Amino acid sequence: MRRVAVLAVQGAFIEHEKKLRSLGAETIELRKKSDLEQEFDGLILPGGESTVQGKLLRELGMYDILKEKIETGLPVLTTCAGLILLAQELTNDENRYFATFPVSVKRNAYGRQLGSFHCDGSMKGIGVYPMEFIRAPYIESVSPEVDILAEVDGHIVAVKYKNQTALAFHPELSGDARVHEMFLSQIR
Ligand code: GLN
Repeated sequence: MRRVAVLAVQGAFIEHEKKLRSLGAETIELRKKSDLEQEFDGLILPGGESTVQGKLLRELGMYDILKEKIETGLPVLTTCAGLILLAQELTNDENRYFATFPVSVKRNAYGRQLGSFHCDGSMKGIGVYPMEFIRAPYIESVSPEVDILAEVDGHIVAVKYKNQTALAFHPELSGDARVHEMFLSQIR
């Protein structure tokens, strides 16, 4: 059975767990360093507040281990704040976190007025998909080897690079399980 670890220090992690379990996967929560001693075949970094998550990852001693797992090929799906944690560059924030994904990301990119919105966007490999954006970032630029999976209003909102898939929106909040299905299909 496929076992997916969900970072559960802050943010919208329960919704990811429900979605994965509804698809027949086993889930474990990563709340402290010793949780990383368990075996798992995939990782989810959920939405929430990237500054809080990044600080907790370091304080809890989980940062180095997770960074190494991501760099050595663990399949990872990240949403919103998780995209910020993976980005190599943040255009409006001095923090850097895992920095394993060669993209440049703008935090809270839609401003206050458009803080949260919904739209149906087209996603490569999936088709039309309901996208929930909550104080979302978007991707300002990508390295040539990055695969662009979705753009909304001229902004890149979903990307894939090797074992890493990163989304600016929240697939765990939609009634559509195809993003999680796609992720699970990458896990042997
Ligand atoms: N605004 C949050 C941040 O910059 C991300 C929001 C989200 O994950 N829904 O960390």
